[in-house]
Amino acid sequence: MSANGIEPTCRECGEPISFHAGETRPARCEQCFDDFLRARDVEFLSSYAELGVTSRRTIAETCFRALAMDNPPHRKVLAMNIMEQYVHTASDLIGLYAAIKQRGREPVMRAFLEFKLDHASAIGFFREIASTPAPEMLASLGLPNPEGLAQRCPSL
Ligand SMILES: [Zn+2]
Repeated sequence: MSANGIEPTCRECGEPISFHAGETRPARCEQCFDDFLRARDVEFLSSYAELGVTSRRTIAETCFRALAMDNPPHRKVLAMNIMEQYVHTASDLIGLYAAIKQRGREPVMRAFLEFKLDHASAIGFFREIASTPAPEMLASLGLPNPEGLAQRCPSL
C-alpha cells in the first residue's frame, strides 16, 4: 500500500504492483512489461539489423582510414579501437545467438541487452558452434535452412 492509501496497479491488467524503495513507480507489472517487450521484439531486431550491426563496423572502418594518416602514437589508439569494436561485435553476436535461442522464455530485447559476455558464455558458444552441424543450429534457433527459406519466402 502506498503512503496515500492508494495501491499502485498495472495500467495494462490492473493487478497490484509491488516495487522496491528507491525505484520510480512502474507503469506495468512484470508480466505486462514482458508482453510489451515481446510485442516489440521484431522491430527491435529489424532496427538492430539496420543500425546496430553496422555501427561497430562503421567505427572500425573510420579508425582504419584514419590509421593511414595519423602519427604512430595515435595509430596505436586507433588500432586498439578497431580491436575493441571486433570484441564488441563478437559479444553482440554471442548475445544475439543466446537471446534468439531462448526466445519464448524471455523477450529477445531484454535477453540481448542484458547479455554479458564472460568466460563460460564464450566457451559455451564456441563449443556449440564447433560441434553442431549448421542445419541443426539453424533449427535450434527456429530459423529455416537456405533451401527451406526459398520455400517459405519465395520472394526472397
Ligand atoms: Zn499487468
